[in-house]
Amino acid sequence: MTKDEIKALVRTVPDFPAKGILFRDVTTLIRHGEGFAACIAHLAQLAEAAGADAIAGMEARGFIFGAAVAAQMRLGFVPVRKPGKLPVRTVGIDYALEYGRDRLEIDPGAITNGARVVIVDDLIATGGTALAATELLRGAGARVDHALFVIDLPDLHGAERLRSAGVTVEALMD
Ligand code: 5GP
Repeated sequence: MTKDEIKALVRTVPDFPAKGILFRDVTTLIRHGEGFAACIAHLAQLAEAAGADAIAGMEARGFIFGAAVAAQMRLGFVPVRKPGKLPVRTVGIDYALEYGRDRLEIDPGAITNGARVVIVDDLIATGGTALAATELLRGAGARVDHALFVIDLPDLHGAERLRSAGVTVEALMD
């Protein structure tokens, strides 16, 4: 299945989660068995080329894609979680959203010092989430130089922000 065929499986929902926002909904992609498998195969190929030792994904949709990529590559998966979810001592990072703030946390024991960790998420918009995850993982000792997304919203310039932080960004579609 081509990237254009995968793209056709993403549903666009107007006015979600707020009026004026066009939400790119990946639930229609993941419920399509062939489409989901092709998407994971494309992402795994990019992660392989990036020399991934482990895959990290952000809660919640990054878990769906990141964990599937990790399993396909027989690599470990590091969940980058919303606050208060992990049962152990965590390290975390606060970051700014368009409205307000949020926080991401990981178990520092999940990172082998110097391991190449490739970030996977469903979508990059402003890049704030992926940039926070990059800083958090780097702070725990990971090498983060690649981030992979199913969808890039180029008008929001997130990929450029990540590139300025030394992270190569690749997405299956704009
Ligand atoms: P950013 O931090 O790059 O501005 O926003 C990206 C994060 O918000 C990702 O974790 C992504 O899951 C979520 N996100 C923002 N907009 C959308 C959207 O239109 N569709 C989906 N599926 N996720 C979005």
